[in-house]
Amino acid sequence: MIKIITIIGARPQFIKAAVVSRYILENCSSAIKEIIVHTGQHYDANMSDIFFEQMDIPKPDYFLNVNGLSHGAMTGQMLEKIEAVLINEKPDWVLVYGDTNSTLAGALAAKKLHIKLAHVEAGLRSFNMAMPEEINRILTDRISDILFCPTDQAIANLKSEGYQNISATILKSGDVMQDAALYYSTKSQKPELSVSENFVLCTIHRAENTDNLDRLKSIFAALSEISKLHQVVLPLHPRTKNIVIKNNIIIDNENIKIIDPVGYLEMIHLLKNCQFVMTDSGGLQKEAFFFGKLCLTLRDETEWVELVENSFNIIVGSNREKIINGAEKLQTLNPKFEKNLYGQGKTGENIVNAIINYKN
Ligand code: UDP
Repeated sequence: MIKIITIIGARPQFIKAAVVSRYILENCSSAIKEIIVHTGQHYDANMSDIFFEQMDIPKPDYFLNVNGLSHGAMTGQMLEKIEAVLINEKPDWVLVYGDTNSTLAGALAAKKLHIKLAHVEAGLRSFNMAMPEEINRILTDRISDILFCPTDQAIANLKSEGYQNISATILKSGDVMQDAALYYSTKSQKPELSVSENFVLCTIHRAENTDNLDRLKSIFAALSEISKLHQVVLPLHPRTKNIVIKNNIIIDNENIKIIDPVGYLEMIHLLKNCQFVMTDSGGLQKEAFFFGKLCLTLRDETEWVELVENSFNIIVGSNREKIINGAEKLQTLNPKFEKNLYGQGKTGENIVNAIINYKN
Protein backbone atom coordinates (compact mmCIF):
# COMPACT_ATOMS: atom_id res chain seq x y z
CA MET A 1 0.00 0.00 0.00
CA ILE A 2 1.40 3.39 -1.06
CA LYS A 3 0.66 6.19 1.38
CA ILE A 4 0.26 9.65 -0.16
CA ILE A 5 -0.20 12.93 1.64
CA THR A 6 -1.89 15.56 -0.49
CA ILE A 7 -1.32 19.18 0.51
CA ILE A 8 -3.98 21.67 -0.54
CA GLY A 9 -5.09 25.04 0.75
CA ALA A 10 -6.51 27.27 -1.97
CA ARG A 11 -9.59 27.17 -4.17
CA PRO A 12 -8.03 25.95 -7.41
CA GLN A 13 -6.21 23.21 -5.50
CA PHE A 14 -9.46 21.77 -4.17
CA ILE A 15 -10.66 21.40 -7.77
CA LYS A 16 -7.36 19.92 -9.01
CA ALA A 17 -6.98 17.51 -6.11
CA ALA A 18 -10.59 16.34 -6.55
CA VAL A 19 -9.61 14.80 -9.89
CA VAL A 20 -6.84 12.65 -8.43
CA SER A 21 -8.70 11.80 -5.19
CA ARG A 22 -11.71 10.62 -7.15
CA TYR A 23 -9.54 8.49 -9.43
CA ILE A 24 -7.85 6.85 -6.43
CA LEU A 25 -11.13 6.15 -4.65
CA GLU A 26 -12.83 4.71 -7.73
CA ASN A 27 -9.95 2.71 -9.20
CA CYS A 28 -7.16 1.88 -6.81
CA SER A 29 -8.15 2.36 -3.19
CA SER A 30 -6.50 -0.97 -2.34
CA ALA A 31 -3.14 0.19 -3.76
CA ILE A 32 -3.09 3.78 -2.49
CA LYS A 33 -4.13 5.41 0.75
CA GLU A 34 -4.50 9.17 0.40
CA ILE A 35 -4.45 11.51 3.39
CA ILE A 36 -5.58 15.07 2.69
CA VAL A 37 -4.02 18.02 4.51
CA HIS A 38 -5.80 21.38 4.18
CA THR A 39 -3.43 24.18 5.17
CA GLY A 40 -6.24 26.67 5.74
CA GLN A 41 -5.05 29.27 3.19
CA HIS A 42 -8.66 29.58 1.95
CA TYR A 43 -11.02 28.56 4.70
CA ASP A 44 -14.42 30.21 4.43
CA ALA A 45 -17.61 28.57 3.19
CA ASN A 46 -17.59 29.84 -0.40
CA MET A 47 -13.83 29.61 -0.95
CA SER A 48 -13.37 26.18 0.63
CA ASP A 49 -16.24 24.11 2.10
CA ILE A 50 -18.45 24.36 -0.99
CA PHE A 51 -15.82 22.60 -3.14
CA PHE A 52 -15.67 19.57 -0.84
CA GLU A 53 -19.47 19.39 -0.76
CA GLN A 54 -20.12 19.94 -4.48
CA MET A 55 -17.32 17.81 -5.83
CA ASP A 56 -18.09 14.93 -3.54
CA ILE A 57 -14.54 14.41 -2.36
CA PRO A 58 -13.37 13.28 1.06
CA LYS A 59 -13.11 15.95 3.75
CA PRO A 60 -9.52 16.79 4.76
CA ASP A 61 -7.94 14.56 7.41
CA TYR A 62 -5.98 17.50 8.81
CA PHE A 63 -6.88 21.20 8.90
CA LEU A 64 -3.88 23.36 9.78
CA ASN A 65 -5.69 26.71 10.00
CA VAL A 66 -2.87 28.88 8.68
CA ASN A 67 -4.27 32.02 7.05
CA GLY A 68 -4.37 35.79 7.03
CA LEU A 69 -0.59 36.17 7.36
CA SER A 70 2.18 37.68 5.25
CA HIS A 71 3.78 35.38 2.69
CA GLY A 72 6.79 34.56 4.86
CA ALA A 73 4.83 33.96 8.05
CA MET A 74 2.22 31.89 6.21
CA THR A 75 4.75 29.71 4.44
CA GLY A 76 6.79 29.32 7.64
CA GLN A 77 3.82 28.26 9.76
CA MET A 78 2.65 25.85 7.10
CA LEU A 79 6.11 24.34 6.85
CA GLU A 80 6.22 23.71 10.59
CA LYS A 81 2.72 22.24 10.78
CA ILE A 82 3.06 20.09 7.64
CA GLU A 83 6.36 18.72 8.92
CA ALA A 84 4.63 17.57 12.14
CA VAL A 85 1.96 15.76 10.08
CA LEU A 86 4.58 14.09 7.88
CA ILE A 87 6.58 12.92 10.88
CA ASN A 88 3.41 11.47 12.36
CA GLU A 89 2.06 9.83 9.18
CA LYS A 90 5.33 8.75 7.49
CA PRO A 91 3.97 8.82 3.91
CA ASP A 92 5.75 7.41 0.86
CA TRP A 93 4.82 10.45 -1.22
CA VAL A 94 3.76 14.05 -0.83
CA LEU A 95 1.61 15.38 -3.65
CA VAL A 96 1.40 19.14 -4.24
CA TYR A 97 -0.55 21.17 -6.78
CA GLY A 98 0.06 24.43 -8.58
CA ASP A 99 1.88 27.43 -7.24
CA THR A 100 0.59 28.65 -3.87
CA ASN A 101 2.38 29.03 -0.54
CA SER A 102 0.79 25.70 0.45
CA THR A 103 2.54 24.10 -2.55
CA LEU A 104 5.96 25.41 -1.56
CA ALA A 105 5.54 24.64 2.15
CA GLY A 106 4.43 21.07 1.35
CA ALA A 107 7.35 20.59 -1.02
CA LEU A 108 9.96 21.86 1.43
CA ALA A 109 8.57 19.87 4.35
CA ALA A 110 8.61 16.67 2.28
CA LYS A 111 12.12 16.94 0.89
CA LYS A 112 13.71 17.96 4.20
CA LEU A 113 12.37 14.66 5.55
CA HIS A 114 13.54 12.73 2.43
CA ILE A 115 9.98 11.94 1.39
CA LYS A 116 9.31 11.63 -2.33
CA LEU A 117 7.59 14.61 -3.87
CA ALA A 118 5.30 14.87 -6.89
CA HIS A 119 4.29 18.23 -8.36
CA VAL A 120 1.14 18.54 -10.44
CA GLU A 121 1.20 21.53 -12.86
CA ALA A 122 4.98 21.50 -13.07
CA GLY A 123 7.02 23.44 -15.62
CA LEU A 124 4.72 26.44 -15.96
CA ARG A 125 6.43 29.80 -16.14
CA SER A 126 5.27 33.39 -16.46
CA PHE A 127 8.90 34.62 -16.43
CA ASN A 128 7.73 37.33 -14.05
CA MET A 129 9.76 36.95 -10.87
CA ALA A 130 7.65 39.59 -9.11
CA MET A 131 4.80 37.07 -8.90
CA PRO A 132 4.74 35.03 -5.69
CA GLU A 133 3.35 32.15 -7.78
CA GLU A 134 6.43 32.13 -10.03
CA ILE A 135 8.77 31.76 -7.04
CA ASN A 136 6.63 28.97 -5.59
CA ARG A 137 6.54 26.96 -8.81
CA ILE A 138 10.23 27.32 -9.66
CA LEU A 139 11.34 26.22 -6.20
CA THR A 140 8.84 23.36 -6.02
CA ASP A 141 9.80 22.03 -9.45
CA ARG A 142 13.48 22.00 -8.57
CA ILE A 143 13.07 19.61 -5.63
CA SER A 144 10.33 17.35 -7.02
CA ASP A 145 10.91 13.67 -7.87
CA ILE A 146 8.10 13.56 -10.42
CA LEU A 147 7.12 16.67 -12.36
CA PHE A 148 3.69 16.30 -13.94
CA CYS A 149 3.61 18.78 -16.82
CA PRO A 150 0.25 19.77 -18.29
CA THR A 151 1.55 20.94 -21.68
CA ASP A 152 4.42 20.62 -24.18
CA GLN A 153 5.34 24.20 -23.32
CA ALA A 154 5.80 23.24 -19.66
CA ILE A 155 8.18 20.44 -20.71
CA ALA A 156 10.07 22.86 -22.98
CA ASN A 157 10.39 25.36 -20.11
CA LEU A 158 12.01 22.71 -17.91
CA LYS A 159 14.39 21.67 -20.69
CA SER A 160 15.52 25.23 -21.20
CA GLU A 161 16.30 25.41 -17.47
CA GLY A 162 18.58 22.36 -17.80
CA TYR A 163 16.29 19.76 -16.28
CA GLN A 164 17.72 17.09 -18.57
CA ASN A 165 20.73 17.14 -16.22
CA ILE A 166 18.63 16.70 -13.09
CA SER A 167 17.58 13.27 -11.85
CA ALA A 168 13.85 13.83 -11.75
CA THR A 169 11.07 12.16 -13.73
CA ILE A 170 9.39 14.62 -16.09
CA LEU A 171 6.08 13.48 -17.57
CA LYS A 172 3.48 15.09 -19.76
CA SER A 173 0.38 14.15 -17.83
CA GLY A 174 -2.20 16.49 -19.36
CA ASP A 175 -4.06 19.05 -17.30
CA VAL A 176 -6.13 18.11 -14.25
CA MET A 177 -8.42 21.09 -14.89
CA GLN A 178 -9.42 19.51 -18.21
CA ASP A 179 -10.42 16.32 -16.37
CA ALA A 180 -12.40 18.36 -13.83
CA ALA A 181 -14.21 20.33 -16.52
CA LEU A 182 -15.16 17.17 -18.41
CA TYR A 183 -16.36 15.30 -15.35
CA TYR A 184 -18.26 18.07 -13.56
CA SER A 185 -19.70 19.69 -16.69
CA THR A 186 -22.82 17.52 -16.62
CA LYS A 187 -23.43 18.51 -13.00
CA SER A 188 -23.32 22.30 -13.57
CA GLN A 189 -25.80 24.30 -11.50
CA LYS A 190 -27.52 27.57 -12.30
CA PRO A 191 -26.64 30.14 -9.63
CA GLU A 192 -29.48 32.02 -7.97
CA LEU A 193 -28.97 35.07 -10.05
CA SER A 194 -30.66 36.71 -13.00
CA VAL A 195 -28.26 37.74 -15.72
CA SER A 196 -28.74 39.22 -19.15
CA GLU A 197 -28.18 37.09 -22.23
CA ASN A 198 -24.82 38.36 -23.43
CA PHE A 199 -23.13 38.80 -20.07
CA VAL A 200 -19.36 38.79 -19.63
CA LEU A 201 -17.89 36.68 -16.83
CA CYS A 202 -15.04 38.40 -14.98
CA THR A 203 -12.79 37.50 -12.07
CA ILE A 204 -9.96 39.55 -10.53
CA HIS A 205 -7.83 38.32 -7.64
CA ARG A 206 -4.12 38.28 -8.52
CA ALA A 207 -1.87 40.29 -6.20
CA GLU A 208 -0.35 42.10 -9.18
CA ASN A 209 -3.78 43.69 -9.76
CA THR A 210 -5.27 43.85 -6.27
CA ASP A 211 -2.14 45.25 -4.65
CA ASN A 212 -1.71 47.99 -7.24
CA LEU A 213 -4.48 50.58 -7.03
CA ASP A 214 -3.62 52.15 -10.39
CA ARG A 215 -4.00 48.81 -12.14
CA LEU A 216 -7.18 47.96 -10.28
CA LYS A 217 -8.80 51.35 -11.01
CA SER A 218 -7.84 51.10 -14.67
CA ILE A 219 -9.35 47.60 -14.96
CA PHE A 220 -12.59 48.79 -13.35
CA ALA A 221 -12.68 51.84 -15.65
CA ALA A 222 -12.52 49.44 -18.60
CA LEU A 223 -15.20 47.21 -17.08
CA SER A 224 -17.42 50.24 -16.69
CA GLU A 225 -17.07 50.99 -20.41
CA ILE A 226 -17.59 47.38 -21.47
CA SER A 227 -20.65 47.14 -19.22
CA LYS A 228 -22.44 49.62 -21.52
CA LEU A 229 -22.58 46.81 -24.09
CA HIS A 230 -22.49 43.68 -21.94
CA GLN A 231 -23.58 43.11 -18.41
CA VAL A 232 -20.47 42.15 -16.41
CA VAL A 233 -20.89 39.42 -13.79
CA LEU A 234 -18.14 39.55 -11.24
CA PRO A 235 -17.87 36.80 -8.60
CA LEU A 236 -15.44 38.71 -6.46
CA HIS A 237 -12.63 37.20 -4.41
CA PRO A 238 -12.80 38.51 -0.81
CA ARG A 239 -9.38 40.14 -1.14
CA THR A 240 -10.46 42.14 -4.19
CA LYS A 241 -13.82 42.97 -2.65
CA ASN A 242 -12.21 44.47 0.46
CA ILE A 243 -9.87 46.65 -1.58
CA VAL A 244 -12.59 47.74 -3.99
CA ILE A 245 -14.93 48.74 -1.16
CA LYS A 246 -12.22 50.42 0.91
CA ASN A 247 -11.13 52.56 -2.03
CA ASN A 248 -14.58 53.26 -3.38
CA ILE A 249 -13.52 51.95 -6.78
CA ILE A 250 -16.90 50.85 -8.01
CA ILE A 251 -20.46 50.52 -6.86
CA ASP A 252 -22.35 47.36 -7.63
CA ASN A 253 -25.14 48.04 -10.16
CA GLU A 254 -27.21 46.17 -12.74
CA ASN A 255 -24.50 46.53 -15.41
CA ILE A 256 -21.68 45.36 -13.19
CA LYS A 257 -23.08 42.67 -10.96
CA ILE A 258 -20.77 41.99 -8.07
CA ILE A 259 -21.55 38.66 -6.42
CA ASP A 260 -19.84 36.51 -3.81
CA PRO A 261 -17.53 33.78 -5.09
CA VAL A 262 -19.59 30.88 -6.41
CA GLY A 263 -19.07 27.12 -6.24
CA TYR A 264 -17.41 25.27 -9.10
CA LEU A 265 -20.70 23.88 -10.42
CA GLU A 266 -22.18 27.39 -10.62
CA MET A 267 -18.97 28.60 -12.22
CA ILE A 268 -19.33 26.01 -14.96
CA HIS A 269 -22.88 27.20 -15.59
CA LEU A 270 -21.66 30.79 -15.91
CA LEU A 271 -18.84 29.69 -18.22
CA LYS A 272 -21.24 27.80 -20.46
CA ASN A 273 -23.61 30.73 -20.74
CA CYS A 274 -21.41 33.82 -20.90
CA GLN A 275 -20.43 35.76 -24.01
CA PHE A 276 -16.74 35.84 -23.14
CA VAL A 277 -14.42 35.79 -20.12
CA MET A 278 -12.17 38.46 -18.61
CA THR A 279 -9.83 37.28 -15.90
CA ASP A 280 -6.45 37.32 -14.22
CA SER A 281 -6.99 33.74 -13.01
CA GLY A 282 -4.84 30.96 -14.41
CA GLY A 283 -7.54 28.32 -14.14
CA LEU A 284 -10.29 30.41 -15.67
CA GLN A 285 -8.27 31.15 -18.82
CA LYS A 286 -8.28 27.42 -19.57
CA GLU A 287 -11.86 26.87 -18.48
CA ALA A 288 -12.97 29.57 -20.94
CA PHE A 289 -11.34 27.44 -23.65
CA PHE A 290 -12.83 24.17 -22.32
CA PHE A 291 -16.31 25.68 -22.57
CA GLY A 292 -15.75 27.28 -25.99
CA LYS A 293 -15.39 30.88 -24.84
CA LEU A 294 -12.81 33.50 -25.75
CA CYS A 295 -10.84 35.19 -22.99
CA LEU A 296 -9.19 38.52 -22.25
CA THR A 297 -6.36 38.06 -19.76
CA LEU A 298 -5.99 40.94 -17.33
CA ARG A 299 -2.29 40.32 -16.82
CA ASP A 300 0.91 41.22 -18.65
CA GLU A 301 1.78 37.62 -19.44
CA THR A 302 0.35 34.13 -19.12
CA GLU A 303 1.67 30.65 -18.39
CA TRP A 304 -0.91 29.28 -20.84
CA VAL A 305 0.77 30.62 -23.98
CA GLU A 306 -0.83 28.03 -26.27
CA LEU A 307 -4.18 29.77 -25.72
CA VAL A 308 -2.73 33.03 -27.00
CA GLU A 309 -0.84 31.38 -29.88
CA ASN A 310 -4.07 29.76 -31.06
CA SER A 311 -6.15 32.96 -30.72
CA PHE A 312 -8.35 31.76 -27.87
CA ASN A 313 -6.97 34.42 -25.57
CA ILE A 314 -5.70 38.00 -25.79
CA ILE A 315 -3.34 39.39 -23.17
CA VAL A 316 -4.52 42.90 -22.32
CA GLY A 317 -2.91 43.68 -18.96
CA SER A 318 -4.55 46.43 -16.93
CA ASN A 319 -4.57 49.34 -19.39
CA ARG A 320 -8.09 50.70 -19.92
CA GLU A 321 -7.78 51.28 -23.68
CA LYS A 322 -6.04 47.97 -24.25
CA ILE A 323 -8.81 46.12 -22.43
CA ILE A 324 -11.59 47.91 -24.32
CA ASN A 325 -9.82 47.35 -27.67
CA GLY A 326 -9.23 43.72 -26.73
CA ALA A 327 -12.95 43.24 -26.07
CA GLU A 328 -13.66 44.58 -29.56
CA LYS A 329 -10.96 42.48 -31.17
CA LEU A 330 -12.34 39.33 -29.54
CA GLN A 331 -15.47 39.67 -31.66
CA THR A 332 -13.34 39.24 -34.81
CA LEU A 333 -11.69 35.98 -33.69
CA ASN A 334 -13.15 32.66 -34.69
CA PRO A 335 -10.78 29.89 -33.58
CA LYS A 336 -11.70 26.20 -33.65
CA PHE A 337 -12.23 25.07 -30.08
CA GLU A 338 -11.86 21.37 -30.96
CA LYS A 339 -8.08 21.61 -30.56
CA ASN A 340 -6.62 19.25 -27.96
CA LEU A 341 -4.28 21.37 -25.86
CA TYR A 342 -4.67 19.89 -22.39
CA GLY A 343 -5.21 16.13 -22.71
CA GLN A 344 -8.42 14.20 -22.94
CA GLY A 345 -9.48 13.74 -19.37
CA LYS A 346 -6.94 11.03 -18.49
CA THR A 347 -4.68 13.24 -16.36
CA GLY A 348 -5.84 11.84 -13.02
CA GLU A 349 -5.20 8.33 -14.27
CA ASN A 350 -1.77 9.27 -15.67
CA ILE A 351 -0.70 10.83 -12.38
CA VAL A 352 -1.84 7.94 -10.20
CA ASN A 353 -0.30 5.28 -12.49
CA ALA A 354 3.03 7.10 -12.61
CA ILE A 355 3.18 7.16 -8.81
CA ILE A 356 2.21 3.47 -8.52
CA ASN A 357 4.81 2.44 -11.13
CA TYR A 358 7.58 4.79 -9.97
CA LYS A 359 11.01 3.18 -9.74
CA ASN A 360 13.75 5.07 -8.02
N1 UDP B 1 -13.76 29.52 -9.29
C1 UDP B 1 -14.94 29.18 -8.67
N2 UDP B 1 -15.73 30.17 -8.18
C2 UDP B 1 -15.42 31.50 -8.28
C3 UDP B 1 -14.20 31.84 -8.93
C4 UDP B 1 -13.39 30.83 -9.41
O1 UDP B 1 -15.27 28.00 -8.57
O2 UDP B 1 -16.17 32.34 -7.81
C5 UDP B 1 -12.91 28.45 -9.82
C6 UDP B 1 -12.58 28.61 -11.27
O3 UDP B 1 -13.60 28.08 -12.06
C7 UDP B 1 -11.28 27.84 -11.38
C8 UDP B 1 -10.64 28.08 -10.04
O4 UDP B 1 -11.67 28.50 -9.17
O5 UDP B 1 -11.51 26.46 -11.50
C9 UDP B 1 -9.60 29.14 -10.22
O6 UDP B 1 -9.24 29.63 -9.04
P1 UDP B 1 -8.51 31.05 -8.86
O7 UDP B 1 -8.93 31.96 -9.94
O8 UDP B 1 -8.73 31.42 -7.45
O9 UDP B 1 -6.97 30.65 -8.98
P2 UDP B 1 -5.94 30.52 -10.16
O10 UDP B 1 -6.51 29.64 -11.21
O11 UDP B 1 -5.62 31.89 -10.65
O12 UDP B 1 -4.75 29.87 -9.52
